Amino acid sequence: MPTRTLVTASLLLLALSACTTSPTGRSQFLIVSPASAIQQSRGAYQQAVDSFRGEQKIADQPQVDSRVRRVAGRVVTAATQQYPQSSNWDWSVVIVDDDEVVNAWCMAGGKMAVYTGLFEQLSLTDAEFAQIMGHEISHALANHTAERMSRAMAIQLGLAAVSAATDGSGSAGQSAELLAQVALELPNSRTAEREADGLGMRLATLAGYDPEAAVTLWQKMAALNDDRPPAFLSTHPAPDDRQANLNRMIPTMRALNPTGSRLGATAITIVD
Ligand SMILES: [Zn+2]
Repeated sequence: MPTRTLVTASLLLLALSACTTSPTGRSQFLIVSPASAIQQSRGAYQQAVDSFRGEQKIADQPQVDSRVRRVAGRVVTAATQQYPQSSNWDWSVVIVDDDEVVNAWCMAGGKMAVYTGLFEQLSLTDAEFAQIMGHEISHALANHTAERMSRAMAIQLGLAAVSAATDGSGSAGQSAELLAQVALELPNSRTAEREADGLGMRLATLAGYDPEAAVTLWQKMAALNDDRPPAFLSTHPAPDDRQANLNRMIPTMRALNPTGSRLGATAITIVD
């Protein structure tokens, strides 16, 4: 009965949904709660790590390790100072040995990945790398993982209803962990991008890195895009006015940390 399935799906959506507010004050309509996103991301992260390990793609480069530890660790310090609820997150990063892939991500709960292609293809300065980590961490802090998982679940419920209508089975067989994986592949909304741009620049600046690096970072990404689009840009669509927005924020950001004093690095787990 397609109608009944649709009604059930809608009721389920309503029962599970909750209204939350992002750090910028935007209201978010979530089917997957931030707490549940953190929990499911833990399992999805383990699966991602296992698959990198199976492909022997976990980097073994002490210099890259120490750079990630130092730069990401400082940005994490800024994050936990600004958002104390994240201080009990199990902050971890897997460094993926793949020079072809220009990408980085952070799941709910501080589970991160950095691909060596970022360094190989963009010749990043530490300040630019800090901007990437600030941006990624901000997506997690602002519940964007939960938002993407909510979208993935809405798609899944829609598909279940359609499949029930066509063959009567309608199994909602996907696990919540799979939702977290699917969410990783979904692009962020442009609103979420703008939010992560602002919060990320703030975290990197507070950590002690020059906010101007946010502008040069996106310029480098765009230049690469002419040639081969980086994976990063498919999940982080550019708001039309990104460059102008970032430029406009520089003076406000500088005022947050005029001397550029550096925070100490939080000890984060480097997955090996
Ligand atoms: Zn983004």
